[in-house]
Amino acid sequence: MTATALTDLSADDLASLLEQQRAAYAELKATGLKLDLTRGKPSAQQLDLADDLLRLPTSTKDSKGVDVRNYGGLEGLADLREMFADLLWVEPDQVIAGGNSSLTMMRDTLVYLLLFGGVDSERPWSQEEKVRFVCPVPGYDRHFTLLESLGIEMVTVPMHDDGPDVDAVAALVADDPSIKGIWIVPTYANPSGSIVSQDKAARLAAMPTAAPDFKIFWDNAYALHHLTEEEAKSADILTLASAADHPHRPIMFASTSKITYAGAGVAFLAASTANVAWYLGHLGDGSIGPDKVNHLRHVEFFGSPQGVRDHMVKHREIIAPKFAEVDRVLTERLGGRGVATWNTPAGGYFVNLDVVPGTASRVVALAKEAGIALTPAGSSFPYKQDPDDTNIRLAPTMPPLAEVTAAMEAVATCVLLAAAEKASA
Ligand code: PMP
Repeated sequence: MTATALTDLSADDLASLLEQQRAAYAELKATGLKLDLTRGKPSAQQLDLADDLLRLPTSTKDSKGVDVRNYGGLEGLADLREMFADLLWVEPDQVIAGGNSSLTMMRDTLVYLLLFGGVDSERPWSQEEKVRFVCPVPGYDRHFTLLESLGIEMVTVPMHDDGPDVDAVAALVADDPSIKGIWIVPTYANPSGSIVSQDKAARLAAMPTAAPDFKIFWDNAYALHHLTEEEAKSADILTLASAADHPHRPIMFASTSKITYAGAGVAFLAASTANVAWYLGHLGDGSIGPDKVNHLRHVEFFGSPQGVRDHMVKHREIIAPKFAEVDRVLTERLGGRGVATWNTPAGGYFVNLDVVPGTASRVVALAKEAGIALTPAGSSFPYKQDPDDTNIRLAPTMPPLAEVTAAMEAVATCVLLAAAEKASA
């Protein structure tokens, strides 16, 4: 039976739907659920896949004879840089293997730009009257809180399935030298699942910018995190930027946080060799070298770039059914009602749910009262302000499948109740 859109219901039918949803919600609350869909964390089952790491490395030296227990090698272990250069489609001398968090590398890069300026800066960014970033929305909440913490202002542009609205980006950056950068999650973006097209990547690499030191923070956190057998390949932003004569514009980030251990993986930065030297120059003031034991552990664990790809298939087998379940429940419960739209991502960690404008906060509050923790409404927008109060980010990877089902049934009830309340108001 096809459900009727709320807008097509008679006043009586709408009133009875509201009553039904109130009853369903009361029942839901009475079951005393305690479920969490807030953050994109790997499940314990996924983490178990990498437990051989706990018995590695077996050697104290890498293939070049470097003793990994000692100081040195600020740029990271060569074998691991080579492995991930292959996976990220860059050259080994363009890659740094660092600590366990790419977000920290992003923060360090921003702090160096603010304090010292980049290789193509006229002065440190902190000496500019104002520094602003373009933020495609919805986007990754920690990108936004990081910028806010550093006093960098945010200007939003819409994110589409094939990347940001590049016309809007190009118009913003063309005349305003205070706009110094943009965040891009090029593959399976958080939370929209978008994949930046080759054409859009080329335009971002080539567009004229008023700031001579404009930077693309190309956060490829989900480069290898496919949910289907069709594996999207990220655009080669470093080559595109070089070809467009802006070699220092992109700085790429990635990590094994959602490949091996979220808390004990390895993060990577990739950029022009001049940018790499610049970053290491500043990093070297505060470090004599990274955790090369962990680097070697990862080299031994994977063996080759193909080893990483094979490992990601095991992740896919665990999490793809959870994403399918989100889609199944939402389709069954909300399909045809005209109360929500959502994506079916081909990779990454999130489902982007858009509910009736003006009801996202209400849905999240209703869910919370019924024991289901969702990411706060507005989180995917700078300053946590979703102008339409419509967007909710769902993160289904961490709970077991049965809990994903229960949580999505509950979310569907909350979405319907909030929509029926609004339509009846
Ligand atoms: N970038 C994006 C887009 C993310 O979604 C995440 C994790 N949620 C990160 C970066 C964090 O990466 P890391 O664990 O390497 O700090």
